[in-house]
Amino acid sequence: MTMNTKRNLIAATLTLVLSGPAVLSMATAHAAGPQGGKQVQVQPLNADEAATLTFMREEEKLARDIYLAMDQAWGLPPFGNIAVSEQKHMDAIKALLDKYRLADPALSEIGAFNDLELLQLYGDLLVRGQVSYLEALQVGGLIEEVDIEDLENAIDATTHADLAQTYASLMCGSRNHLRAFAATIEAQGVAYEAQYLDQEVVDAIIDSPMERGGACGAGGGGKR
Ligand code: ZN
Ligand code: ZN
Repeated sequence: MTMNTKRNLIAATLTLVLSGPAVLSMATAHAAGPQGGKQVQVQPLNADEAATLTFMREEEKLARDIYLAMDQAWGLPPFGNIAVSEQKHMDAIKALLDKYRLADPALSEIGAFNDLELLQLYGDLLVRGQVSYLEALQVGGLIEEVDIEDLENAIDATTHADLAQTYASLMCGSRNHLRAFAATIEAQGVAYEAQYLDQEVVDAIIDSPMERGGACGAGGGGKR
């Protein structure tokens, strides 16, 4: 090794040492870029979260389809209005399915379901709701109580804020729907009795006023 080469080597090493931290901090800055961007990237759902989200899409469809059928059978409130609201709930879930690139289970046909339990439930509730207007209202109350419970469990089982927010928004809508069905039943002189949730839980909901505001209903995450 000549003296020149040696000096060059030292110079090169020095340069490397000097530029070391600079290179490192550049690398850090570069890494921070995609990391900051990760907030807009999608963190995949786990299998349970995906299954629950997929199920909720069809559960909201069950509500919509039954209320459309009850509106057709009885032509009385509040089925028509609430069916419109359930369509918004379906849309809110669909937006999340799209975001996480999950297949949409919802069939276009009214009363058709991929989930066999929901298919069976649809048939049972349809028959019951055609007995009388009062029975139809009770069916509405039952659907909302089940929906509230399922949404609550879904919130507890997710770590994704966007899912929890949408579920909470839908649950608020469900409480309002339960209030509407219970009030219509009570307007006919019949006390509303809990069908799925605890009576105290139901009473706390139906004895409190309708909830208003953007966070209640279909929205979730400020989406309209
Ligand atoms: Zn709903
Ligand atoms: Zn509802």
